Amino acid sequence: MTETYSIVIAGDGGVGKSSITLRFVNNVFVDKYNPSLENSYRKTLEVDSKIFMLEITDTAGQEEFRSIRDFQLNKSDGFILVYSLFEKSTLDEISSIRDKILLLQNLEKDDLKTKKVPIVIAGNKVDLEKDQQREVYAKETKELSKSWGIPFYETSAKENINIDILFIQCVRRIRQYKQKPVPS
Ligand code: GDP
Repeated sequence: MTETYSIVIAGDGGVGKSSITLRFVNNVFVDKYNPSLENSYRKTLEVDSKIFMLEITDTAGQEEFRSIRDFQLNKSDGFILVYSLFEKSTLDEISSIRDKILLLQNLEKDDLKTKKVPIVIAGNKVDLEKDQQREVYAKETKELSKSWGIPFYETSAKENINIDILFIQCVRRIRQYKQKPVPS
């Protein structure tokens, strides 16, 4: 039977969560996509010669939807946290979402490396780099993601850069997390 994993896409409003999801699921980029507060999609993905069914939930970032988002964070298998390379505050938001995940999963911060909690970070809109000055440089997030022990990619939903790999790595992390006995 195909294993099904639920993945939640979280991050501040406007960072490109819907665009990343739509690029992955339908291979399109819609400039003026206006989603309702939450959308779910299903897509199969082959990872390491095995087929998985992914249930992807694209959450709303706004404060008033926090409790719905936290419900999703609680019941999901994996997490893709998105920020914008052109808005530093959206990276800070990722930190607080990560803290929330650790809390909901009942983990201490130091547990994260050994348990390899299935989180992947996406620094989105890298295509804009040719026209705009970045607010977040790769070096900064690389150090952060290394200290957290989780993978990080710079992505573009618009130009389809590093979108599939986000989901592939997330599935790998979920498998590790579910299969490996946790060292005590
Ligand atoms: P969400 O609120 O996080 O779901 O963000 P959206 O997916 O609605 O995207 C917000 C805005 O950023 C929209 O105008 C998108 O077209 C734009 N956007 C999203 N991803 C990218 C990207 O990779 N490159 C560029 N240039 N624009 C993007």
